[in-house]
Amino acid sequence: DPNPSRFQNPEKEPSMPDASEFLMHTYGRLPVTFVKGRGAVLTDDRGRDYLDFLAGVGVVCLGHCHPALVEALKRQAERLWQASNYFTVEHSTELAEALSGLLSQTTDELGHLAGSTGSVWRTFFCNSGAEANEGAIKVARKWGRERTGATGILSLKRSFHGRTLATLAATGQEPLQAAFRPLPPGFAHVELNDAAALAEALARPDEATGPVCAVLIECIQGEGGVWPADLDYLREVRRLTEEAHALLIVDEVQTGFFRTGAPFAYQAAGIEPDIVSMAKGLGGGFPMGAVAARAEVADVMAPGDHGSTFGGNALACAVGATVVRTLVDEGIGEHVIACGEHLAKVLAGLPHVTEVRGRGLMRGISLDAPVATAAVERGLDEGLVLNHIGDSILRFLPPLVVTEAQVDAMAERLGPLIERLCG
Ligand code: PLP
Repeated sequence: DPNPSRFQNPEKEPSMPDASEFLMHTYGRLPVTFVKGRGAVLTDDRGRDYLDFLAGVGVVCLGHCHPALVEALKRQAERLWQASNYFTVEHSTELAEALSGLLSQTTDELGHLAGSTGSVWRTFFCNSGAEANEGAIKVARKWGRERTGATGILSLKRSFHGRTLATLAATGQEPLQAAFRPLPPGFAHVELNDAAALAEALARPDEATGPVCAVLIECIQGEGGVWPADLDYLREVRRLTEEAHALLIVDEVQTGFFRTGAPFAYQAAGIEPDIVSMAKGLGGGFPMGAVAARAEVADVMAPGDHGSTFGGNALACAVGATVVRTLVDEGIGEHVIACGEHLAKVLAGLPHVTEVRGRGLMRGISLDAPVATAAVERGLDEGLVLNHIGDSILRFLPPLVVTEAQVDAMAERLGPLIERLCG
């Protein structure tokens, strides 16, 4: 079988059209059709409930169908959907102002709110994480051309920044790139947590990449397998980029919106980047992305430089504004810090776990046996929605409203399942 992550479920009702006939085969889809969700629980078309430890890949931050989001979407659906970016729509400025406040927060290393840097951040709204990173790259390149003449972008090996051609070029994973070359030029990759390698690449960029205008990083590499950047390394990255007159772009697509405890993961390191890309949690399930830059960097962009027909539409902004307000009002960061510690402890107690990584409610475990794919497949029979990266890493991205009791319930089913798969 060329795709070992797929398996046949003999009980599957034949009434639905065959997904593999009509959907492009870009995903090894598991044979479950979800029809409802509430909080951290998903329900399939046969009425079975599942504990959701994936949250639509780190998207559904407030849980499925949070009443405040349902209400905001319904209300806006009856008022206005789309008017174009030639005008402003309700909630877009309110949301951008709220983002500026969140981006300029300071926290301690665990993510507890401390104060503010006082910076003003300006936002461009788009529709996905890849688009947010495209925008970030464009801002950095224009800034570089005008300030230093540099246009090269450095990112990290094993990183993930999206599937569009430029974000794929930034992504440090050769297997994802190979079939789609030629990719846009001007990208190079260095090892995570190796400040000396970064210093060297900034000082002596390779010829193909040219002088570097920006360093693009995830504070915790998500798709790569939940590999955290050390906080000291992040501080060093900030210092080195400043010294080299290069910008620091932090990709918070997966780590943003309290996923790691702090509003944004860079805040745990006590640094402030120049550009931040966001998506996933921002819309709480409604497709939405954003790139924000500190005002002095953002102002390099002029009318006509960038755009998006759907970006910042009225529906997305109504939902996004409600997401951010609700996350803050419900004090979700404190819950994430506490529940995330509990999750880490529980995961460390599972059999065959060799390492627990991550922060808050973004955790990964390495297993001493190649059973991660099977654990995800068989997890469905146990009423668990899980996620694997390769065959020995499981990644946990539950809705941020998940309870400690739900974490315990997940572990009570996953522990014996891993034992069975290894036995
Ligand atoms: N950046 C990071 C860190 C991500 O985790 C992802 C998606 O997983 C992306 C970018 C791409 O986001 P999207 O799939 O919305 O284009």
